[in-house]
Amino acid sequence: MARIAIIGGGISGLSAAYYLSKSLKSTPAKIVLIEAGKQFGGWMESSRFDDGTVFEHGPRSLRGVKSEAGYASLLLAEEIGLESKILSVKKEHPASKYRYIYAKDQLCLMPTGPGDLIKKIPPFTRPLAAFGWKEPFRKSVKLHDESIHDFITRRFGEEIATYAFSAMFRGIYAGDTRKLSIKSCLRPVFDMEQQHGSIIRGAIFGKRTKTEIPKSPLVERFRSEGWSLWSFQGGLQTFPETIASKLKEDPNIELHLNTVCADLGFTVDNKANLKYNGKEEVFDHVISTIPSGDLASLMSKQHSSMATDLNRIPLASVGVVNLQFEGDRLPIQALGHLVPFCEPDRVLGILYDSCSFPGHGTLDRPTTRLSVMMGGAWFEDHFGPVDQYSDDELTEVALKATRDQLGIKEKPFRVISKVAKRGIPQYNVGHSDIVDSVFSYAESKKFPLTILGACYKGISLNDCILNSRNTMKSLGEQMTQ
Ligand SMILES: Cc1cc2nc3c(=O)[nH]c(=O)nc-3n(C[C@H](O)[C@H](O)[C@H](O)COP(=O)(O)OP(=O)(O)OC[C@H]3O[C@@H](n4cnc5c(N)ncnc54)[C@H](O)[C@@H]3O)c2cc1C
Repeated sequence: MARIAIIGGGISGLSAAYYLSKSLKSTPAKIVLIEAGKQFGGWMESSRFDDGTVFEHGPRSLRGVKSEAGYASLLLAEEIGLESKILSVKKEHPASKYRYIYAKDQLCLMPTGPGDLIKKIPPFTRPLAAFGWKEPFRKSVKLHDESIHDFITRRFGEEIATYAFSAMFRGIYAGDTRKLSIKSCLRPVFDMEQQHGSIIRGAIFGKRTKTEIPKSPLVERFRSEGWSLWSFQGGLQTFPETIASKLKEDPNIELHLNTVCADLGFTVDNKANLKYNGKEEVFDHVISTIPSGDLASLMSKQHSSMATDLNRIPLASVGVVNLQFEGDRLPIQALGHLVPFCEPDRVLGILYDSCSFPGHGTLDRPTTRLSVMMGGAWFEDHFGPVDQYSDDELTEVALKATRDQLGIKEKPFRVISKVAKRGIPQYNVGHSDIVDSVFSYAESKKFPLTILGACYKGISLNDCILNSRNTMKSLGEQMTQ
């Protein structure tokens, strides 16, 4: 019987185990999943309180998108029987419609429809259409890669890059658009300029790849109700917990918690040697789903050049302060607001969790839940070395931001501050070259190794699940041939 190890029990590792066992059904194999932490889920961590409150410390929702990746997460949730536990944010909800940025000392509502493009809305000095109309006539440049900031400045002007795009990418990557790669973070937009000479022309005349809509009652519900975001009763952690309990039902799958994989090497006869729990074991194949820096540490002794490349993918630490206030304190109903990098504040943005997911609130009375995000690409500049930050300082910064930006002066009755240390991979300029180099090195050496996880080909939960599903389907097919 083939023996396969999966290192890491975050969403990538768990979904890899789930899809690999499914794809190997006719050829039973032993799958051993090794997770260093005390619970499964990686960054997906929710705190649940007796009064019904749920706080998210990592990701807080899955994005409802009509793409292969968006459908992959829905299908997985459906297959493991979670459809009745889904909490969705429908298209008419304020958290779907309204997004703000905080700039020039005010909350600025971003356009909600085409009509807003011809109005002058703060913080912009002209109507957005005035930045856009010249774009199709601007000279295009043949590029290998460029920062998002330079790319958007070239196409639409610096104001759009500085306010709209920097805020958006502080929200998604906790990253700095002056470093993040347009090619790796916004590939379709990059391709539009390369193929059509302009983004607007590309959007109008470009060929649309049709996404196949899976036949599934949950996908149908998602499409007809138009969810923009979704989560679960009990928080996002319900997802990895349920996948893990499904995996436990399979006698061919072994799950280990509190177990660090300490070393990984490859033998001349194409096997993998894994050191964990103080013992060394031989596997026919290994699937790594751990962050790039952790994989680099495992590989550095035998394959230092691959480790050097892996270490070139930076990971940003993100501070998340969850606050809960008595009563309804929000001055506006929306998903939240983001703060562009040109503002002096130390926060990346504030998410209005009680607006998006009222189902994660107290059962007996109204309360307001906020998540204040900070640090990211600026963590060390703002808070010092990530192993020496102070929780009190993070909380102080969060409370000042809620006071200054939302006018909430009351004291919260519940506060939890945590830092996702090296939590979000930064796909900086040149990222795709690093990934190519890592993957082609492993391939050229014919390592029995598959590399998955958020550090390479998409950071969202949807991307991680799709990547694990598709890669495990091919691996399963190869192994059953
Ligand atoms: C604060 C924050 C907010 C986010 N918000 C969102 C959001 O709202 N929506 C969204 O779609 N995405 C969001 N993301 C991104 C998304 O959560 C992550 O990209 C995704 O969870 C990564 O999953 P993963 O399994 O690839 O990696 P991880 O979650 O990092 O899992 C890797 C696992 O490997 C384990 N491990 C590491 N080294 C070893 C070792 N040597 N031996 C054994 N185990 C090891 C770790 O303990 C960990 O459990 C957010 C991320 C963060 C940090």
